[in-house]
Amino acid sequence: MALMRNRDMVERYFRRGALPTTWCPGCGLGTATGAMVRAIDQLGLDADKVVIVTGIGCSGQVYTLLNFDGFHGTHGRALAAATGIKFANPELTVIAPMGDGDCAAIGGNHFIQAARRNMDITAIIMANQAYGMTGGQYSPLTPMGSFTSTSPYGHIEPPFDMCALAIAAGATYVARGTVYHTQELVRLIARGIAHRGFSVIEVLAPCPVQFGRRNAMATPVDMFRQLQRATVSVREAELHPEAIGGRAVRGVLREVEGPEFTAEYEALIRRAKGDTHG
Ligand code: SF4
Repeated sequence: MALMRNRDMVERYFRRGALPTTWCPGCGLGTATGAMVRAIDQLGLDADKVVIVTGIGCSGQVYTLLNFDGFHGTHGRALAAATGIKFANPELTVIAPMGDGDCAAIGGNHFIQAARRNMDITAIIMANQAYGMTGGQYSPLTPMGSFTSTSPYGHIEPPFDMCALAIAAGATYVARGTVYHTQELVRLIARGIAHRGFSVIEVLAPCPVQFGRRNAMATPVDMFRQLQRATVSVREAELHPEAIGGRAVRGVLREVEGPEFTAEYEALIRRAKGDTHG
């Protein structure tokens, strides 16, 4: 698989004038966004039929950067807006990049309901384990013992496993990747977008400024090394389950067919409007 050159990617998919981003040096969001754009490119999608829906947070800037139609909603509501957009025009490819605070905290219920409905939407959780934009507060994905601006003595709560949550709630494609394993990440996102049904890709992406510095990872390189150490591929995990040792498993964790309700709701709406042929 040949990856598109950065220059080509920027010229084709990024808005002129939107660069440079306001993201901090070493932030993982740029790599995650690049992987998403490369996945869209590899699938050969019609750019006029791709919609990017974001909520609030550092990840919200994805919408302003990219030359697709989009919607920048309120905090945690990206999936609610994405659901409406998909209902209104099922031909669109709807992708919702969200931060972990955005998706797992204030948007947690939308996430569960979207998974349960198995709407044909792709949710990309850019998981950096804290609220970056608002000052580094702990999020539902902050690991126990970690230091954040609101856990100065070490975080005492266990984090969500978003992939396990997505599977339990009914998502039919669930995968986890990291911005360290870039080519693998492009493949995981492309497969998720191509999947018919609710797709979730958790992308482990460092926030060196608000999280790394507080947790003995002074540079972005330290954080990337941590991603390498703290994850294991699905294949490795299957071959050597004893070697997982608390590490996060990367790869496709679930891929099944399930009832996808976009068409069902369309028929229902036509029926409610009195169209007896619906
Ligand atoms: S605060 Fe963190 S997540 Fe936000 S742009 Fe900076 S490094 Fe990235």
